[in-house]
Amino acid sequence: MPRGAKPKLYYNPEMSTHTHPWAHVEKRTRASDVYEHLDRAGLLGSVQVLPGHSASDEELRTVHTQRHIDEVGRMTAAARADPTNRELCEPDGPGGVYYSGHADAAARLACGCVIDAAVGVLQDSKNATATRASPGDKARRRAPPAFAIVRPPGHHAGADPTDGHHAEGFCFYNSVAVAAGVVLASGDAKKVAILDWDVRHGTEP
Ligand SMILES: [Zn+2]
Repeated sequence: MPRGAKPKLYYNPEMSTHTHPWAHVEKRTRASDVYEHLDRAGLLGSVQVLPGHSASDEELRTVHTQRHIDEVGRMTAAARADPTNRELCEPDGPGGVYYSGHADAAARLACGCVIDAAVGVLQDSKNATATRASPGDKARRRAPPAFAIVRPPGHHAGADPTDGHHAEGFCFYNSVAVAAGVVLASGDAKKVAILDWDVRHGTEP
């Protein structure tokens, strides 16, 4: 790894395609607002911006059942076929989520960005260790950190093997859990630490 490599920032504007016509806190600009703020602040030149990938079924299955994945796909297709179906598309619909014709694609991108950030740091760390000339070389060859700005959120989505479908709290796929699942499945790490800081806006206890 070259010395002084820039931190990686995973962000994909396609995540904004998942939307609905009603005012709601989980709105389409939730990730783009953050990204555009960083741009206005002149910080994007300090990072490597990468688009992330669309998480595959195989990656999602490290946490979710195939039935859950199929159900998110089915509900997304139903919302695409009938965008006026308020039961599917209205905020706080079934399980506290709303679907749109882009729900599955946006959620897979959110998940893929987080996977890429986690796997990228691990890979860069391995490369930095492999190319380190001596133990004292550590500080100069450290892997760059990675960040992901994503939506829809993920941490309320469960694996739920009992009924096979557990999307709720505006979440479809549990991005952080899937990233941890992919990292653990790769065998490159034995443990993954997760710090989940769920900021509320004063609307819930
Ligand atoms: Zn939450």
